[in-house]
Amino acid sequence: MPVYSHSRLSTFENCPLQYKFSYIEEVELEEEEGVEAFLGSRVHDTLEKLYQDIIHSKLDPVEDLLSFFEELWAENWHDNIVIVRKEYTAEHYKATGRRCLSDYYKRYHPFDESKTLALEKLVTMEFGGYKLRGYIDRLSHKRDGHYEIHDYKTARYLPTQARFDGDRQLALYQIGVEEMWGDAESVDLIWHYLVHDKEIRSKRTPVEIEKLKRDIISQIEIVERAEAEDDFSPRESGLCGWCSFQVLCPLRAHMVKTKPLPVNEFLKEPGVKLVNRYVELREEKRDFIERFEGELEKIEEALLAYSEREDVDVIRGSDKRLKITRYAKKKLPTKSDEERERLDKLIMDSGKWLDVSDLNTSTLLKALESDDWEPELRQKIQRYLIEEEGYRISLSKLKERES
Ligand code: SF4
Repeated sequence: MPVYSHSRLSTFENCPLQYKFSYIEEVELEEEEGVEAFLGSRVHDTLEKLYQDIIHSKLDPVEDLLSFFEELWAENWHDNIVIVRKEYTAEHYKATGRRCLSDYYKRYHPFDESKTLALEKLVTMEFGGYKLRGYIDRLSHKRDGHYEIHDYKTARYLPTQARFDGDRQLALYQIGVEEMWGDAESVDLIWHYLVHDKEIRSKRTPVEIEKLKRDIISQIEIVERAEAEDDFSPRESGLCGWCSFQVLCPLRAHMVKTKPLPVNEFLKEPGVKLVNRYVELREEKRDFIERFEGELEKIEEALLAYSEREDVDVIRGSDKRLKITRYAKKKLPTKSDEERERLDKLIMDSGKWLDVSDLNTSTLLKALESDDWEPELRQKIQRYLIEEEGYRISLSKLKERES
């Protein structure tokens, strides 16, 4: 049975296909690392050294710590580090790391707010028949029975307090701390958003912890159902640019394979040629239709004016006669209109609804996907649906980092 973790579940939530590559097929690709992850690791390592030394009664001066960070940076830097945001260089990221550390140092010096119990601490939990685990960046305590779980973040995006109050990762670690230390009466969850020099705190009640366990169990059940049905659809998002499996992903493989090609090879690549021709034809078609519709509209207006001026409703052409029939158009109030509701009710109450209503495929499919209808009914309806191979082609602009 697999051992689950917050990051394992998050990977599935972000993209089931990425989960499959990572955890089912355990695909190993040539090591590539985003500069953001590299920065995060070096800052974590430096803070680990700071507290490791404090445990041994040695308080490093900030200059030593920054030198340690710079050495780590130089020793670990490699050619496969990817900088997705082209407007920034490695030096910008390194300067950010230095700033994170010196701000942190200034804020917490002399680091005596609490006592560090463990660094990079492995915590394990077991509930609902599942095993989970995680690593706490720093576990500390203020007094007996009062624990603090610290997490360091170097992300530039600062979530709202509501997100922290609903965060799964540290609350999960709280379960581990409570299981591993019987004296844990209260646990503070603390995030250090180093880029913003900000500390955010949150707490969980026993009721919230029980709900969290239930949510995690149902998420694991979703993951295991996907595994049983081998159903791992790719889910494209802003995170794709940082995904190591782009080269294997049907939504990204062609993009990443063709991006480095020299222009002449790129333009000869069969897929590129097809898309470019398709775009040309679609644009020609759109221009033609616009021109054609514009002309048709103008002629219709001229015909109406002619028929009024000459007081005729039938006009002769060379091979065809054209007849203009004028009538008053009737239409229904739109669905958002209150009048529409009254009309629907009137027809339903009269028992004539079935005479005028018709089953609409897209509305029915939407209803089948929602949870509003009973599962049993949805299952029965599914049997009547005829499955056909279909496709939809859509065009969109290349995003900044794809072009
Ligand atoms: S590139 Fe995006 S859609 Fe494809 S596997 Fe990775 S995260 Fe999923």
